[in-house]
Amino acid sequence: MESFQVTSVKEALKLPQDAKMTMAVQVLQVESVQSYTYAQDTKQSYFPCLVGDSSDCAWLRVYQVPKITQCPGSTKVCPWMDVIVPDNVKAAAQQLPKEMKTATRPLNEAIAGTSPSTVTGKITQVSPLKRFHDNTLSSKFLRLVDDAQQPPVKVALFGREAEQAYSPGDVIRITDTYPYKKTNSLSTKKSAKVEFLPQEHIPIDVTKIPSTDDADFKADETTVEAITVIAAQSAYSYQACDKPICRNKKILDDGTCPTCHNKPSTEAHYSSALLYIARENNNFNEIRIFQDNLMKLFPDIPTNDSAAMMTHMKSAVPVSAKGRFTRTGLEILSTKRKQCS
Ligand SMILES: [Zn+2]
Repeated sequence: MESFQVTSVKEALKLPQDAKMTMAVQVLQVESVQSYTYAQDTKQSYFPCLVGDSSDCAWLRVYQVPKITQCPGSTKVCPWMDVIVPDNVKAAAQQLPKEMKTATRPLNEAIAGTSPSTVTGKITQVSPLKRFHDNTLSSKFLRLVDDAQQPPVKVALFGREAEQAYSPGDVIRITDTYPYKKTNSLSTKKSAKVEFLPQEHIPIDVTKIPSTDDADFKADETTVEAITVIAAQSAYSYQACDKPICRNKKILDDGTCPTCHNKPSTEAHYSSALLYIARENNNFNEIRIFQDNLMKLFPDIPTNDSAAMMTHMKSAVPVSAKGRFTRTGLEILSTKRKQCS
C-alpha cells in the first residue's frame, strides 16, 4: 500500500492541487450531496465538508465517485484519532467561503469585474478546436448567454476543458474565469473546470441568436477536425477531357473539349457529390466534394455513373474521416474504414 505523509490542514493548503496526502481532521460541518455531470456523460457527486485541525480549517470535497480534482481517486475516509480544533480555528471556519474559490456572477458582471468569477451560461456557438505552441495547447471558444436581454459572451477554454465536446443549447458552469483584457470576453485559468447542468436551467432559445463572424469561431486552414459523412444528397458525373492541362473540362455534345478542341481518346469521367457532414463542433454542413477527395472517402466509388455513385455511397455511410475545411472546400486527410463483415 502506498503511504502518504500525514500532514496538517495548514500544510495541505500549500501543497500543489494534485498532491496526495493523509490528514487527520475533525469534521465541523457537512453539506448536502451535490451532483453534476462531467464530460457530458459522467455523473459525479460529492459532499462539501468543513474540516479543521489545530493548525487551520478548509472546505473539502469528498467524492462519492472519486475521480477528479480535489480528492484523488484513492481517497478513503475513516474514523481516526481525536483531533482538537481550537476555538479560534472554529470561528475562522465559519467565515470561510463555501468551497468556492471564485464568486459566482452573471456574465455581464464577470466581463466587467476585476477578479475571477464562476459563470453559468447556455452555449449559443462553439468554435473549432484550435491548437497552439506546436499542437501542445488546445483551445476552444464558446459563446454563452444567461440573460435574453444581453448579448452572448465569448469564453476561451484551454487544454482538457477545450477538448470536451460542446453543443449549442448545453448549459455549463465554468469556474475560474477572468475578464480578458478589455474585450468584453472571458478567459479561463488553468484551474478552470466546466460542469454540465440541465438545459432547463437557462430557458433561453439559443437557435434564435445570430452567430458571430468573429474569426475565432471560423475554422482556419490549419484546423484538422473529425468529420462524419452522414448521407449523400446527390451525385454528379460527366465525361471529362483526359488531358491534365484541361482540368477536367466537360466534353461538349459534339464530343470535343471546349478548351483543347480535341476528341478525348479515353472515357475519362469527373465526378462530385453533395454530402451531408457532421462536424466536430456538432454543427452540420452540406458540402460539395470533388473527385479527389470523394475517392478518399469512398475508394471504390464508380465515378463514371451518377446513379451507381449514389448506391455506393448510401451503402458506405456513415464514413468517419479527418478533414480540414479550407477556403475552397473540404480536404480529406484520412478515413476510418467500416469493418467488412
Ligand atoms: Zn481538353
